[in-house]
Amino acid sequence: MSGERRVLDPSEEVGIYACGPTVYSRIHIGNARPFVVFSLLARFLKSEGYAARLAINVTDINDKIYTAAAERGIPSGELAREMTAAYFEDTGRLGLGRPDAEPLATDTIKPIVELISDLVESGNAYESGGDVYFSVRSFEGYGKLSHRPTETMEQGEGDDAGSLKRDPLDFALWKSHKEGEDTHWESPWGPGRPGWHIECSAMAEEVLGDLPFAIHGGGSDLVFPHHENEIAQSEAARGRPLAKVWMHNGMIETKAEKMSKSEGNIFQLSEALDRFGSEAVVAYLVSGHYRQPLAFGEEQLNEAVARVDRLRNFLRSNPPASAVADGGPLPPGNGPEAPGRGEGAHSGEAAHAVDRFRDALADDFNTPRAMSELFDFVRTANHEPVAGAGDAVVEMLWLVGLESLAEARQSGPDEGALGLLAEREQARADRNFDRADGLRDELAGLGWEVRDSAEGATLVPRNGG
Ligand SMILES: [Zn+2]
Repeated sequence: MSGERRVLDPSEEVGIYACGPTVYSRIHIGNARPFVVFSLLARFLKSEGYAARLAINVTDINDKIYTAAAERGIPSGELAREMTAAYFEDTGRLGLGRPDAEPLATDTIKPIVELISDLVESGNAYESGGDVYFSVRSFEGYGKLSHRPTETMEQGEGDDAGSLKRDPLDFALWKSHKEGEDTHWESPWGPGRPGWHIECSAMAEEVLGDLPFAIHGGGSDLVFPHHENEIAQSEAARGRPLAKVWMHNGMIETKAEKMSKSEGNIFQLSEALDRFGSEAVVAYLVSGHYRQPLAFGEEQLNEAVARVDRLRNFLRSNPPASAVADGGPLPPGNGPEAPGRGEGAHSGEAAHAVDRFRDALADDFNTPRAMSELFDFVRTANHEPVAGAGDAVVEMLWLVGLESLAEARQSGPDEGALGLLAEREQARADRNFDRADGLRDELAGLGWEVRDSAEGATLVPRNGG
């Protein structure tokens, strides 16, 4: 909030809450960025000995869901469930494991209603025509995150809410049930549903416990009004700050007017994964500093493919000792088996490289600097062999979720897998996409990821996650 950096206290649990997607469509690369950044941040902190706990929520009650469901002519609850499952599937394919908690707004109604009641009781909120609004002027610190003058604040709630508000600055905590909305919940103010901001305040407290927790994350587009309003609600209700540190990731920049049709397709995460593979997508997302915007296009993803191929090749000629021993380099996910600093068997030059890599991550999670340390080391070790180079590279890759590059597959896909691939090609040619997706999942079960390119589809070893 002050724009300054803080040092985390290792004796306390590091609760991290990052705002997850609103599930009204399949997620795109822009939604994948906070998922990757905060999953890897939690992984890094755990490996440095912190008791980190990551929560990424699912916003499954929202205006956008009602609108999208009406367009498709299906119940909004059905759309939300379908898209929540798709979100779990798509992010699962990134191979980073799951966050420690993934609360859903629909599972958190009781705590949401209780939090709103607390705010009404404390005089920070008021009922009006079945809606409940937060009284912004009742909270002195309003605006401290976004540093905006109040005159330029616009809650973006449309005109219909305006007449019920005492002040245009106020925002909705509870919205009364409207005709055409096919879901609603009971409350002391009548049937209705929660507003988006209060959902996050309640979910964060539900899964991370007493305020403040250590880190609140999300996209930089959420600073105002979403995060400003989360702060106001939680702090007004509890008399304590919501979070100690705010980390906002920059936007994925798409140059919309120039985006070709194929680039539009691969902006959807599942399509990008199909075409470039999970490692390239993750490598692309860690190629920029999380706070900065990141340019998006086929060119950037193709560069990421080239980078992961270089790393895969390096590990082929410098196999890690651990891979030989147990058939896999390191456990995927955020398990307790994760390597900690100094636990590796590295020495000398290799150990220094890992230290420099970790130092870069410790400095405001500077993944591009860490990756350039990694490539410097690879260049050196390619020039002149370094003892333990393979293990050191695997540890660095593990820290950015790319450990699957070390999976040494001795043989290529067998006849069965190639047959399924040919069937999938045919299904796609027939525009039978359900069948094609089913075959892709079948191949995934066999350990193969389908990668589509202009030259046709190929199979690459699947990420361990
Ligand atoms: Zn949120």
